[in-house]
Amino acid sequence: MIYFDNAATTKPSEGAVRAVIKGLEHFGNPSSLHGLGLAAEQECEAAREAIAAALGARSEEIFFTSCATESSNTAIMGSARSVGKRKKRIVTTSVEHPSVAVCCDALEEQGFEVVRVQPREDGTYAAEDIISAADNNTCLVSCMLVNNETGRILPIEKAFNAIKKKFPQTLTHCDCVQGFMKLPLSAKKLSADIISLSAHKIHGPKGIGAMYIRKGVHIPSLLLGGGQEKGFRSGTESVPLIMGFGAACSELTGSIAQRLEHVSRLRARLFELCGQTEGIELISDDDCLPYINSIAVRGLRSEVLLHFLEQREIYVSSGSACSKGKKSTVIKEFHVPDDLRDSVIRVSFCHDNTEDEVESLIGAISEAQKSLAKIK
Ligand code: PLP
Repeated sequence: MIYFDNAATTKPSEGAVRAVIKGLEHFGNPSSLHGLGLAAEQECEAAREAIAAALGARSEEIFFTSCATESSNTAIMGSARSVGKRKKRIVTTSVEHPSVAVCCDALEEQGFEVVRVQPREDGTYAAEDIISAADNNTCLVSCMLVNNETGRILPIEKAFNAIKKKFPQTLTHCDCVQGFMKLPLSAKKLSADIISLSAHKIHGPKGIGAMYIRKGVHIPSLLLGGGQEKGFRSGTESVPLIMGFGAACSELTGSIAQRLEHVSRLRARLFELCGQTEGIELISDDDCLPYINSIAVRGLRSEVLLHFLEQREIYVSSGSACSKGKKSTVIKEFHVPDDLRDSVIRVSFCHDNTEDEVESLIGAISEAQKSLAKIK
């Protein structure tokens, strides 16, 4: 099997699987006062510390959630319910993941003014465009670090730094799901008040996410109840999943540069072979994160190609996995020409992928171009 759909989800690492099993066996409730509870609580705190360290944050700034979708919903709806009582403008981008975009749509219906900053003609983002969209009436700026469909890296550090300097009361939220553990990341350098993370994109289990909330920032919680997570997120903690998240994060710590170098080599080979194959167009470019690459195979519908590749046990994605059955609006936002939009596939790498696998993919695409063209 060749798995090139790592932006949709990653295979849990052996360490993460072991940690989940250990967490299931040590079944105490972290809120219980006895030893079993204490042991579970200590495991959760160790995971919290690992995630905090990866962001250069303090462990008390990390809160566990069920997924990044919950993190972003809490960040956006919570910001609207706090700073949004006085300030009614939200700045975001036109290429956000639905977990952010749909929240902004809902708030727009409630009367907020939402400004969706678009990429420039060449598909890149300019920090100035995000900065100039914010004003004194802006309660929240919510922008992703890495786009999940093209790998485009957005200039968040520059934009958030300038915005926080000009408008200190404006909250800044960054969906770092596709950049976490792939790019060096510091919450402080990013000037983010809130960050969303997900475990299953970094070889951890599904169903667990986290939020970084800068010390001193207060946003109301969505879940009320027993007061877990220091009152911020009620509900008994999922100890096994938290432990799996912590283990996945620890395993990747210290190897960001080395892994980036490896996937950069894979991307270079992919781009080289695409350049040599007639009919393949690159959507992503050298400035995108090398883990995520969108390409278009002229004349072949992406879903048809996806299933052709699947028969050869090569797994890619057609656009974003979250927009199953729906056309991606993000690809259009990135100015991909009309005649290519239905032919875009996403090839997303992880550190385990090899150049041989990339060569097999391009071989299989060439085969598809020949055999599917005959059917037409
Ligand atoms: N944000 C981005 C950029 C993503 O790619 C995804 C998942 O595809 C999410 C958020 C949602 O993450 P989760 O599945 O943990 O809710």
